[in-house]
Amino acid sequence: MSITWSLLASDLDGTLIPLERDPQRLREVAELVRAVAESVNLRLAYVTGRHLSLAREGIAEVGLPSPDWFVCDVGTSVFRKADSGFEPDQGYREAMRSAFGGLSGAEVRAAIGAVDGLALQEEEKQGEFKVSYYTQGRPEPYVDSVQARLDAASARVNLVASHDPITDRGLLDLLPSGVAKDYAVRYLHDQSGVDEQHLVYAGDSGNDRAAMLAGFRVIVVGNADEELKKDLGIEAVGQGIAEKIYFAEHPYAKGVLEGLRHFGFVA
Ligand SMILES: [Mg+2]
Repeated sequence: MSITWSLLASDLDGTLIPLERDPQRLREVAELVRAVAESVNLRLAYVTGRHLSLAREGIAEVGLPSPDWFVCDVGTSVFRKADSGFEPDQGYREAMRSAFGGLSGAEVRAAIGAVDGLALQEEEKQGEFKVSYYTQGRPEPYVDSVQARLDAASARVNLVASHDPITDRGLLDLLPSGVAKDYAVRYLHDQSGVDEQHLVYAGDSGNDRAAMLAGFRVIVVGNADEELKKDLGIEAVGQGIAEKIYFAEHPYAKGVLEGLRHFGFVA
């Protein structure tokens, strides 16, 4: 008899990793971890904006188990469990290089070179295929000159700009064209051989949206952004996928557990 595998692919910060560190929240994580451990056919992937080392620190801090896959750097890297730890998935690296126009992150950095007011973020915030800068003040004024240098190098890049009003610092992320968390989740779907009905994606914010509309089952944790909930509610009806999207009542890990039970992934 063949085994039917399921896969929980989940965001970390604000989803499995609570934003508040009180004992109650940590007990809720522990309860989820027990339920997942008892479901022997359930595989695990963490899908995060974090770099691998920070993702590993984060799960250790709250007691989440080691997964089968880490998707890091906003979907631009996939690591699979190996005997010696986690190793980069070679097929995914090739896909990223090609999506970046044949370049690596280091080559993209070199193509941009020095720009006044633009500073590389800390090394732990860079990925092999993700390049991240700080900008002095708002990031928008830098976009055109960065884009021009990327075009000259034939790089194919998504420029994602945001602004931190507290530090008045801009953030500029350069990702391979067309790549975000949803791209990686589709890749895991292909790699794992889990069928669509047995893959569930859990998240809490706008950077999970595309992955939530990729055709799999979805858990929206209770603490998710109101805008996201409203938007997914509309999409769910519009696309006729309402039965695939579960809006949990509870926040964080407790909401994920609630959703896993709803879909029958855990007892
Ligand atoms: Mg999140």
